[in-house]
Amino acid sequence: MQKIIPSALIILTATILTACTHSDSSFDEQDGLSSFNKDSLAQHIITLASDQFQGRRPFTVGETKTVEYLTNTLRSLGVEPGNGNEYFQKVPMVEITPTCDPSMKVESARGNFTLKNMDDYVIWTENTDSIVSLNSEEVIFAGFGIVAPEYNWNDYAGLDVKGKVVVVLVNDPGFSLIDSTLFKGKEMTYYGRWTYKFEEAARQGAKACLIVHNEAAASYGFNVVQNSWGKSQQHLDTRGKEYRCAVEGWLTEPAAKRLLNTIPDGETLLAKANQKGFKPVLLNLKVSTSMKVKAVFNESKNVIGKITGTKRPDEYIIYTAHWDHFGIGKPDAKGDSIYNGALDNASGTAAILEVARAFKTMKNKPERSIVFLFVTGEEQGLLGSAYYAQNPVYPANKTVANLNIDVINNFSPTKDVSIPGGEGQSELEDYLKKELDKKGRYIAPEAHPEAGHYFRSDHFSFAKVGIPALTIGGGIDAIPQGKEYGQKQQELYNDNFYHQTTDQYDASTWKLEGGLEDTILLFQIGKKLAFETTWPQWKEGSEFKALRKNN
Ligand SMILES: [Zn+2]
Repeated sequence: MQKIIPSALIILTATILTACTHSDSSFDEQDGLSSFNKDSLAQHIITLASDQFQGRRPFTVGETKTVEYLTNTLRSLGVEPGNGNEYFQKVPMVEITPTCDPSMKVESARGNFTLKNMDDYVIWTENTDSIVSLNSEEVIFAGFGIVAPEYNWNDYAGLDVKGKVVVVLVNDPGFSLIDSTLFKGKEMTYYGRWTYKFEEAARQGAKACLIVHNEAAASYGFNVVQNSWGKSQQHLDTRGKEYRCAVEGWLTEPAAKRLLNTIPDGETLLAKANQKGFKPVLLNLKVSTSMKVKAVFNESKNVIGKITGTKRPDEYIIYTAHWDHFGIGKPDAKGDSIYNGALDNASGTAAILEVARAFKTMKNKPERSIVFLFVTGEEQGLLGSAYYAQNPVYPANKTVANLNIDVINNFSPTKDVSIPGGEGQSELEDYLKKELDKKGRYIAPEAHPEAGHYFRSDHFSFAKVGIPALTIGGGIDAIPQGKEYGQKQQELYNDNFYHQTTDQYDASTWKLEGGLEDTILLFQIGKKLAFETTWPQWKEGSEFKALRKNN
């Protein structure tokens, strides 16, 4: 007993010390909360998702109107310009339309054959040369195409792939074995995401990178690949700054097997790739194909506003939501061709405008600076946030946290919220948990850890440069209807509204109470951070921990 007393004292002292992270008593739990109301939230959504905004595609009239609306709203709220005297950051982009040869010629010692464009493979380019081609290039099967020192894994070890075509598998070795000791087991690490595969192949100097599609490992069918690529696509303008493979793309699994079978037992390599020490294999074949490229350069805009902190103005909390959507596209059966993107992501954009308004109404002004960043080009591949992360207005090592929202709940309050990708990345999750506890709410377990949801919205661009980043997703445990009802609502959205012309505001069915509560959560977390001197960290085992620069 005697020995316990002093250590109990130490624990008590330590508790007091960690509890006293507010630099003074100006933090007020209730401050700013009274400004939140769902009509104001709805009004922003109605405007941004109206047909006049034409689906908010970058480079269009829809962009001009959206940027103007966001800028005017920030100004009228009294939020300062976030980039010098300007409310925007220019984002140089390029729209690339490839016209591919109808087929790819394969020459091998076991005979020649062709693969069919769009049926057997889908390819594109980020190069802006007028013609991009593969001319009898050698092909290497490089397993998962992963270089991960922390897992002691290197699929490119001792290999020179410069100028060659690499074929790699989607996801990571942990998924295919469902072995919790490999990588993160079933949970997809960033090494499993398709964007990583192209980035790593480019770092290795490959000329082309083709990913073998597998529905379970990719978590979507080849039809999604066919619908998403092989047509006009926007990219960041990286001319002269960054090497990308000339050709990027996906192969169906049967097409990949035909390539692999140019060597004896080639097909078995698909299963061998998840064994430690797997060595890449040069296939006995050469491939040729080409595409004509139309490139249109243009500038899009991230919109950015700021409230300067009263005590630590050079420390920043950055809220993000993407303002863009798909614009005008293929008409649906009713002839509607406007992709209004009311939930995705007029709703998140509106939520951050409401957060900005709440911060402005606070009696005690935030001690750290609060930045509101509305990014462009998310639907084209997180372009606006990636550009910001690479060209930050505020230094990454002075950025305390990124809080992101992409789609809010529009059906009912819920007991739970989700963290896309699951828990375990950063201490921001502990802040979220504390706020949820106060309301008797909780974090729902991630239903599809293999899908890599953490890597699919703009907070991920911040994570990639080491800034702790949190995005919150809606829950399903509806009050009072329960989980089954909530699950059903989510399925309805995925099937009937997600990335379709039908994603429109509907006053007769939308209920924004739940979305408003989740918005308030994000506000409370940012407010707490704004009065603290602490720096939330990445958790042990997060692939982003090593990227955090000292602050
Ligand atoms: Zn979105």
